[in-house]
Amino acid sequence: MKEFTKEVLDMAKAKDPGETEFHQAVEEVADSIALVYERHPEYRTAKVFERIMEPERVIMFRVPWMDDQGEIHINRGFRIEMNSAIGPYKGGLRFHPSVNLGILKFLAFEQVFKNSLTSLPMGGGKGGSDFDPKGKSDNEVMRFCQSFMSELFRHIGHNTDVPAGDIGVGGREIGFLFGFYKKLKNEFTGVLTGKGLNWGGSLIRPEATGYGAVYIAAEMLATRGETFEGKTCLVSGSGNVAQYTTEKLLDLGGKVVTLSDSNGHIYDPEGISREKLEFVLELKNVKRGRIKEYVEKYRSATYTPMDPGADFNPLWDHKAQCAFPSATQNEINKKDAQNLLNNGVYCVSEGANMPTSNDGVKLFIEKGILYAPGKAANAGGVAVSGLEMTQNSMRLPWTRQEVDDRLRMIMKNIHKTCVETAERFNTPGNYVNGANIGGFLKVANAMLDQGLV
Ligand code: NDP
Repeated sequence: MKEFTKEVLDMAKAKDPGETEFHQAVEEVADSIALVYERHPEYRTAKVFERIMEPERVIMFRVPWMDDQGEIHINRGFRIEMNSAIGPYKGGLRFHPSVNLGILKFLAFEQVFKNSLTSLPMGGGKGGSDFDPKGKSDNEVMRFCQSFMSELFRHIGHNTDVPAGDIGVGGREIGFLFGFYKKLKNEFTGVLTGKGLNWGGSLIRPEATGYGAVYIAAEMLATRGETFEGKTCLVSGSGNVAQYTTEKLLDLGGKVVTLSDSNGHIYDPEGISREKLEFVLELKNVKRGRIKEYVEKYRSATYTPMDPGADFNPLWDHKAQCAFPSATQNEINKKDAQNLLNNGVYCVSEGANMPTSNDGVKLFIEKGILYAPGKAANAGGVAVSGLEMTQNSMRLPWTRQEVDDRLRMIMKNIHKTCVETAERFNTPGNYVNGANIGGFLKVANAMLDQGLV
């Protein structure tokens, strides 16, 4: 570990000892920023990285709501307004029982660099609640969203802070949140992204994160003169990102053989066809069922339940060339990373945020595989959210083709920034340094321009 990394990590641990995911994110980025500081000590003197580590504002609030049986529940709501140097705070809302301040701080911190990489004018933020939408009725989800928004509305706005979806927050939740914001403020503005198409949403927004993760992987493969044609791919998760990653891989000739949820994973050696993917979309987005139902319908597949005591995830232990972790943080540990390499995987594109532990990342980099970290690979989602904001401001929707072309161009540019920046800092092929430094410089320069605020 570099001396600078140790210094800031010790500081983060002393201030907030329990925030392990935040420490992990800081450590990963600090190692890259140390390379910048060697050449540009002026950033170090100005303590720019230390300033980025500290949220500009943290909002934490009570969210009381009543279930269908009349029982009262109390959840905790959060919004981390991390950095607004290059634009309004922007980042998703996560509803999941594991949500806490440390997880949201890591996500908000990552978001600052990611949003900068898109080249759109967006600062970084993240929020959510420890509410679990799983197993709740639509009415219960609506009452929760209304209670959540009854506090959040004071802090957000289309020029201030523009939340979107993340784990547990999809089209249904964004609808309930937007409806209540509009009622409270009596105004129709683009205060949230991921909206429905009839009320200000952008075409391609639901698809954007998954498509983007595949577009950047295609760029990486192209550096070796390869395409997805005939390649076997492992995808984890079965939510928004996993679904559209699978769809785009099918478009480009790849074969997807796995999907998962928090209970286990399916392995279909025949590949997930378009028809099978349609079944998954219906199962997950409409019926809100579990991925194991896939094997009841398709006999070619097997289901392996998650073993909470195991020290590895069997999803990453299948033969393949490409992997798209698209579920959650730390779903690939060092052993999983080694299993991926042993099974022939040499292209990893992270649809999820920080899905690989830091020792797993080190292994990928040591072995010189094509590895795009989440802040580059999954930036397509927030990029199209940025395009949704533009369309809302113009009050003019773009066609599917226009948005997809822009998304593809943004992902191509992110790839280029990563490659060129990594080379400039003498670590060619290291997309982690490329993404961290590329994202950092724009924010750091804006912060220096704007003085000590
Ligand atoms: P969804 O809620 O649509 O899907 C999440 C999927 O991951 C589900 O299959 C879920 O299973 C699984 N999952 C969630 N938590 C765990 C866990 N602790 N262990 C195992 N599986 C888990 O979320 P998204 O697809 O939107 O998000 C997936 C990842 O992508 C997250 O890391 C998110 O931050 C990241 N991301 C999302 C963006 C977006 O635009 N939506 C943008 C950029 C990044 P189950 O149903 O059992 O909970």
